[in-house]
Amino acid sequence: MSKAILTIDDGPTTLTPSMIDYLKSKNIMPILFFYGHQLESHFEEGLYALQQGAIIGNHSYSHPNFNDLSYEECISEIEKQEALLDRLFQTAGIERTYKLFRFPYGAKGGKNKALIQQYLHEHGYNRVDDSQIDVKWYIDNEFNTDIDSLWTFDFMEYQLNNSTDFTFDSILHRIHDPNPETGAPLLEREINHIVLIHDHENTDKILPNYFEILIDYVIEEGVEFVPPRISVMKQ
Ligand SMILES: [Zn+2]
Repeated sequence: MSKAILTIDDGPTTLTPSMIDYLKSKNIMPILFFYGHQLESHFEEGLYALQQGAIIGNHSYSHPNFNDLSYEECISEIEKQEALLDRLFQTAGIERTYKLFRFPYGAKGGKNKALIQQYLHEHGYNRVDDSQIDVKWYIDNEFNTDIDSLWTFDFMEYQLNNSTDFTFDSILHRIHDPNPETGAPLLEREINHIVLIHDHENTDKILPNYFEILIDYVIEEGVEFVPPRISVMKQ
């Protein structure tokens, strides 16, 4: 059975509270990477997730592709969202003991990559503990040393909303793919994953309850969701 940390990107939305309730019923602790536009418009839903014990990370303010931004624009995107997250924790009355960051689209800033990593390091960002992850693609790309958090399996279920060629069967195909182009096979035995799924209202309009359906499905197929650990930076 594979073990997976569950990460959920792009919230909060009106769906977030029901996702959180469902995960609590399954005893699954997620990491939610919120971005600013969503958090401003769905602050109460974000607050609920935090108060129910979810780990909350920074996914930028406006969800741009960082490869297309100047260094200063990248930092502004991170810091604007950081201020909103501070407000979220303050409102919840919960002390912030960690700072996590995930790039939108996993785009690490192109020519500014090293500078942004240095910024994250100097500003006390933490890593999701990925020391158990032994995926060749992940290690070959040095994602295991970057401070930001990537993933090793993406459901890509948001494509239901982008393309009529992409169907529920396409997601099942990805789940069962023994040889994916990126990441690692989800259902391979004894493999550790960071799994990515999204908090998108548009996907839920096309496939209602997609979140619960997909998580139920992979649990049935033998994926065990494990609680994330946050590690301090290796110096
Ligand atoms: Zn995103």
